[in-house]
Amino acid sequence: MSAYIHIHAPAITHSVFTAECCPDCQRPEPAMVREFTDGYNDPEVICLCCGESWSGGYLWPKPFERGWRQRRIAQVIAAFNAERGIM
Ligand SMILES: [Zn+2]
Repeated sequence: MSAYIHIHAPAITHSVFTAECCPDCQRPEPAMVREFTDGYNDPEVICLCCGESWSGGYLWPKPFERGWRQRRIAQVIAAFNAERGIM
């Protein structure tokens, strides 16, 4: 018997830097907004001050590990630079 697992992971159409009111920082902070190709998912917003991310008004789960906020911010900035061919 075989089983199939379908993981829905739409591609990101584009990312923009903006300022969003972060639910963790409780004030407007620099943030990156990522929009997806499928049109069903709300844009993902990542705070570049604390690394918190949310979508559609709901916070995304946080990893249970040390230093995840700094790594998350670095990953987001690296992905933004790679998208634009900046090294
Ligand atoms: Zn924040």
